[in-house]
Amino acid sequence: TKLRVGLLFGGRSGEHEVSIKSAKAILGAFKAEENTSKYDVIPFYIRKDGAWQTGEISQQVIDSGQPLQNLATSPNLWQLPPEAAEIDVWFPILHGPNGEDGTIQGLLTLMQVPYVGSGVLGSAAGMDKIAMKDVFAQAGIPQVKYITMTRSQIRSSSSVFPKFCDNIEANLGYPCFVKPANLGSSVGIAKVRDRKELETALDNAASYDRRIIIEAGVVAREVECAVLGNDSPKASILGEITFSSDFYDYETKYTEGASKILIPAPLPENIVSQIQELALQAFIAIDASGLSRVDFFYVETTGEIFINEINTLPGFTATSMYPQMWANTGIPFPQLVDQLIQFALERHSSPD
Ligand code: ADP
Ligand code: MG
Ligand code: MG
Repeated sequence: TKLRVGLLFGGRSGEHEVSIKSAKAILGAFKAEENTSKYDVIPFYIRKDGAWQTGEISQQVIDSGQPLQNLATSPNLWQLPPEAAEIDVWFPILHGPNGEDGTIQGLLTLMQVPYVGSGVLGSAAGMDKIAMKDVFAQAGIPQVKYITMTRSQIRSSSSVFPKFCDNIEANLGYPCFVKPANLGSSVGIAKVRDRKELETALDNAASYDRRIIIEAGVVAREVECAVLGNDSPKASILGEITFSSDFYDYETKYTEGASKILIPAPLPENIVSQIQELALQAFIAIDASGLSRVDFFYVETTGEIFINEINTLPGFTATSMYPQMWANTGIPFPQLVDQLIQFALERHSSPD
């Protein structure tokens, strides 16, 4: 009998549209000849208001690539479609908050059904840039210097705020990067060059999140590594992103032709193996499972490597880095989704 896969996409996140594209690519891969005899895939769409839909509507969203419009005003968030009870294994492909951050993983854990990707801890720790960097620091993985703040420190009227700014200038200098801790796709991120820009960027970042991280800026090449597996994960060959904008911001990420992908990344062999090793260390340190994309800065002039971040549910469209890096490593897209299901089942059968 075939395994029923619940493909969970959309979600209450700024990366809702990307998730729809990822779901489309994954659904296509399950329909490849080698997978049709093994799996029946049922798409479940989580609308922007958080309500779940399946059947024709979710299929339409995938086919059109467009989010569902004209939502009912008060969805019943406690009511999952009855089809959810028949799923053998879930494949959540939700990017960003309310999907990549442990919330959906908690729900699926409570359902006692296996699911693709990291559990609650790995997802939550990977999503929050402060928690993530603290874990990496503890694991001795090299990264740029950073300082953390809360919204209330930024909005405080006392001398707290200027003191933090003084500290940032003294310890990180300019340019530095101001980021909300819990977003993706570069949303809310600013590169700042002076005190005035710093103050504005902190205030802006505080409108996105309670937790803010400020990092020393580096001039570096951006290199990514795909990781696959559970307790003995494997690292892919590397990919590099190039662009001519100031940094890899939202517009550059989602404007066709604004960035280029190089796979394999043209790097010396010893740098490649160091980055692959660090990617595996990061995956284990954060307690990821199934899949992750680990992103690095490589400073060519000094040979330094810094980890930038881990993404536990990376973009999974037909042109996304994660599946492309595996395809170039010898695991084509259909085989990749099959392996992810197998790792989900393996993880479920030997839980913590
Ligand atoms: P997101 O999770 O939204 O992708 P990132 O932390 O990866 O956020 O930052 C987005 C982009 O901003 C990076 O890909 C890079 O181009 C730039 N960037 C972020 N932090 C730094 C830094 N410390 N130094 C130089 N560039 C940075
Ligand atoms: Mg990210
Ligand atoms: Mg990033």
